[in-house]
Amino acid sequence: MSDYRAPLEDMRFVLEHVVDIAGLAALDGFEHADPETVLGLLEESGRFFSEQFAPLNRVGDVQHSRRNDDGSVTTPEGFAKAYTRYVDAGWPAVPFPPEYGGGGFPWLVGVAMQETMTAANMGLSLCPLLTQGAIDMLLHHGSEDQRETYVTKMVSGEWTGTMNLTESQAGSDVGALTTRAVPADDGSWRITGQKIFITYGEHDLVDNIVHLVLARVPDAPPGTKGISCFIVPKFLLGDDGALGERNALECVSIEHKLGINASPTCVMAYEDAVGYLIGEPNQGMRYMFTMMNTARLSVGLEGLAIGERAYQQAVAYATERTQGRALGAKSASAIIEHADVRRMLLTMKAKIEALRGLAYLNAESIDLSKHSDDEAVRQARDELADLLTPISKGWGTDLGCELASIAVQVHGGMGFIEETGVAQHYRDIRIAPIYEGTNGIQAIDLVGRKLPMRDGGVIGDLLDEMAATADDAAEAGGELAELGTRLTDALDSLREATTWLLTNGRTDPNNALAGATPYLEMLGVVTGGWILVRSALAAERLRAGDGDGFSDDFLDQKLVTARFYATQLLPQAAGLLPAVTAGPADLFAAAL
Ligand SMILES: Cc1cc2nc3c(=O)[nH]c(=O)nc-3n(C[C@H](O)[C@H](O)[C@H](O)COP(=O)(O)OP(=O)(O)OC[C@H]3O[C@@H](n4cnc5c(N)ncnc54)[C@H](O)[C@@H]3O)c2cc1C
Repeated sequence: MSDYRAPLEDMRFVLEHVVDIAGLAALDGFEHADPETVLGLLEESGRFFSEQFAPLNRVGDVQHSRRNDDGSVTTPEGFAKAYTRYVDAGWPAVPFPPEYGGGGFPWLVGVAMQETMTAANMGLSLCPLLTQGAIDMLLHHGSEDQRETYVTKMVSGEWTGTMNLTESQAGSDVGALTTRAVPADDGSWRITGQKIFITYGEHDLVDNIVHLVLARVPDAPPGTKGISCFIVPKFLLGDDGALGERNALECVSIEHKLGINASPTCVMAYEDAVGYLIGEPNQGMRYMFTMMNTARLSVGLEGLAIGERAYQQAVAYATERTQGRALGAKSASAIIEHADVRRMLLTMKAKIEALRGLAYLNAESIDLSKHSDDEAVRQARDELADLLTPISKGWGTDLGCELASIAVQVHGGMGFIEETGVAQHYRDIRIAPIYEGTNGIQAIDLVGRKLPMRDGGVIGDLLDEMAATADDAAEAGGELAELGTRLTDALDSLREATTWLLTNGRTDPNNALAGATPYLEMLGVVTGGWILVRSALAAERLRAGDGDGFSDDFLDQKLVTARFYATQLLPQAAGLLPAVTAGPADLFAAAL
């Protein structure tokens, strides 16, 4: 099984030349996040995850987390020690506010770090990921007291967090949940109900787990308008903040799954458990929306992370495995010499670069939406983050599955055999299109909520920006001009699809719902092409200048991947147009 190495050079290229990490460092509060410091931090954390998390990836897959008879959960061997080292090194705190013990770095830096953590060990990474979601919720909507009590401990990683939304009858339709909350005399609440599929709902990595639980208060309106959000800690706290009595909640079972076996997916039973209301009653759904962009981006990033890990493994295998003779070779060739294997690997490489650019741009937009000193930039980036999030999540996780599948194919029969480890990536990433809102729900969000933003103005701005990049490429001439032409062609189809959905979705929403998934894919394909043309332009600029420490070879390669993507993958956008604009007739005519 091959090792994982953080792809630092590619990460630096995107951070400095596709998005603008230096621009973030110029903003108030981010002065310490200068590129040199950020790159040093990513190098250190990348090494940490490769050395401490990656070797446990297979162990976790084989051993699984196990529930014991007393309801406790034991994580795989080595996990607790690796997690403690992660906490001791201060990594959980990096992107959070200094007031709560955080490092105060941009979200973009946290996202880049998360790429390497997830690639190293997706099963373990889910614990910090869910904790991050809970922190985000409390930072936005918790009281000062709640933030001081819980957030500081979660930022340090001493305690972890969970998100309890799903119930057996309430999955995509969160509004169908029935868990109840009744007020107690002392101002707290009593929570009763059963939640399913709760990631790291119980485990042995830390002393306390802060569950955020969605429930209904008495007389709450039906559906999503009647959801409230509660803090329900595993251990209640004494007045001095020390851990006290065990709360009335329990992990009653854990699921047996296709992948991410190390991550305990728990059925949680709450029986008059003590809970503390976050914010106002019946506002839980609104609160969830404020953290959705970051949580969904994090899941989209799983596609990138596992794609990168699977790619590294596929290249290593293809370099060692000999089979057949490449044209002109006198003896057996490494399979990497065969054109078809090279196609598989280059497809992976190009899509990974497109995805990384997309995810980092999405993260940069989240930062600028909050921290830019220019109101217009804050507004524009807020809209862009809203628009990009379903693409990062939906397209990113679909690609993650596709890339892991290609990696299996590169391995031939050995890819299907568990011992190479590549099959694990394929199984692990399959969850990502399902949780944090299925990709079907992402597509509906895209066409139903995001396209209509500012009456089509937000998507219009993005399309114009893409067109401007195509013009820049045309002006640059030479090979870049060809890339510009390809992008313009794809944009024509995308504009047609967008206009069709905006117009026909208004007359009959089923028109938009039927075309939502192919549209999400189309927008992903074109956004990826746009990112890679930007990347090629940046490489060309660097080559004409001092290169900023990148070798000519590295920069040439950026042009190769952009060319491959623009000429061979980007034209697929036009092929999706008929599916976007077909409407629902056949879908409902079919006897299924
Ligand atoms: C390993 C794992 C970890 C998880 N972790 C957590 C967690 O930590 N916390 C938590 O609260 N939940 C968690 N979940 C739950 C997860 O978020 C849900 O499984 C997911 O939201 C989908 O819900 P469902 O399984 O009920 O599927 P359903 O909602 O039943 O969906 C089934 C299919 O129908 C489609 N569908 C449903 N409604 C519509 C619609 N209106 N329009 C079009 N298509 C539709 C879906 O896209 C999907 O393809 C986890 C799940 C798993 C498997």
